[in-house]
Amino acid sequence: MKTALPALAALAILASLTGCQPGGKNASTMPTNNKPASTPPTAAPSTTVTPATNAAPAKVVRSEEEWRKMLTPEQYRVLRQAGTERAFGTVYEEFKKQGVGTYVCGGCGAELFSSKEKFDSHCGWPSFYDPANAKNVLTRDDLAHGMVRTEVICAKCDGHLGHVFKGEGFPTPTDKRYCINGVSLKFIPAGQTNAPAK
Ligand SMILES: [Zn+2]
Repeated sequence: MKTALPALAALAILASLTGCQPGGKNASTMPTNNKPASTPPTAAPSTTVTPATNAAPAKVVRSEEEWRKMLTPEQYRVLRQAGTERAFGTVYEEFKKQGVGTYVCGGCGAELFSSKEKFDSHCGWPSFYDPANAKNVLTRDDLAHGMVRTEVICAKCDGHLGHVFKGEGFPTPTDKRYCINGVSLKFIPAGQTNAPAK
């Protein structure tokens, strides 16, 4: 195709190309905008792990304009355009210093990971071996850039978080590395709102 596109549209296409889908089938899955955006979860009294099989969490749906307003440009690029932050950046340095707490989605506040599953993989991005609240973390195949990878997204807002790699030999219980962009996450120190009681 050789259609002359305005610069903005071309940029958007470029961004989506470097994103995720194997190609072709994303036009039909546009979310509708008339659902009320749900609020971040209010502090649950304790970690109620209900293995609800297919019960997906309520979706957070916002227009691109709304996302742009509420996210920083870097967060928007990563979460909404499947970008990747620079390795060993400031966010990563902060991440390494963070203590006990919970990591929620930078876009919608869904609980995603906890400091319990955090480990130092020396890869330059925040790494976890398991999601804290598995129903809020989804994975899907990512065939972009000529590689077969598994993309990690937030189940609530579909925000791009990073990728998960298996069998790399890290001494963790799962031998998985959830390689997550720090800007996709918000850290809630233990004891603060949004964090589980303990
Ligand atoms: Zn989210």
